[in-house]
Amino acid sequence: MHSSERIAVLTGAGISTESGIPDFRGPNGVWTTTPEKMKLVNIEDYVRDPQVRVAAWQERMNHPAWTAHPNAGHLALADLERGGNLLALMTQNIDALHQAAGSERVLELHGTIHQAKCLSCGRRTRMQEQLERVSAGDPDPACTECGGIQKSATVAFGEQLDPLVLETAVVASSACDLFLAIGTSLSVQPAALLAEEAHHRGALLVIVNQGETPLDDRADAVLGDPIGEVLPRIVSAK
Ligand code: ZN
Repeated sequence: MHSSERIAVLTGAGISTESGIPDFRGPNGVWTTTPEKMKLVNIEDYVRDPQVRVAAWQERMNHPAWTAHPNAGHLALADLERGGNLLALMTQNIDALHQAAGSERVLELHGTIHQAKCLSCGRRTRMQEQLERVSAGDPDPACTECGGIQKSATVAFGEQLDPLVLETAVVASSACDLFLAIGTSLSVQPAALLAEEAHHRGALLVIVNQGETPLDDRADAVLGDPIGEVLPRIVSAK
């Protein structure tokens, strides 16, 4: 941390579990305990099956993000940004807890649950606006402009990442001198690719994760401590 001037940070579900948001693939993960929920995040199933959409809207209604608060890990990364050496904060999370903690420039690789989007015309609206329609008795609210199917503005399996967000993340990963991978199993793309790109370009690679990742062997340090404890320590050591 002392010698690094261009730090890129990638966070995954593990940083938000300490805020009460379950991860997906961990021992108590959403898909580990209820694998059928994977259907809700597959774009083909979502478009084809109205029942999947009804179930997905109920999941959004009950999502823990609406009541979650940022934890010490999120706050430490907001401090890091204020310190001026943060090149990019990239996240796989859709909960916006980084922004709630005070981070101003967040690259949301997988989008956000705080907005809804129309799959036909691309119109974006506030998620709360759509959830109010669900509460009022419309189980699968259609776009009020074009009648199209709507979903959260998150990236489902089978959907493309926002190309501008992805490119910015790749540029930051290739230009950083320290890459911190936090709470991510580095098992999906583009997460693994970003960490590999940074390592390939000579950046230090530090992994903070409970559980192994495929890049542990190549990392300069691997920390398995709880994120909310370890991040404040390493950020204040800067
Ligand atoms: Zn529309």
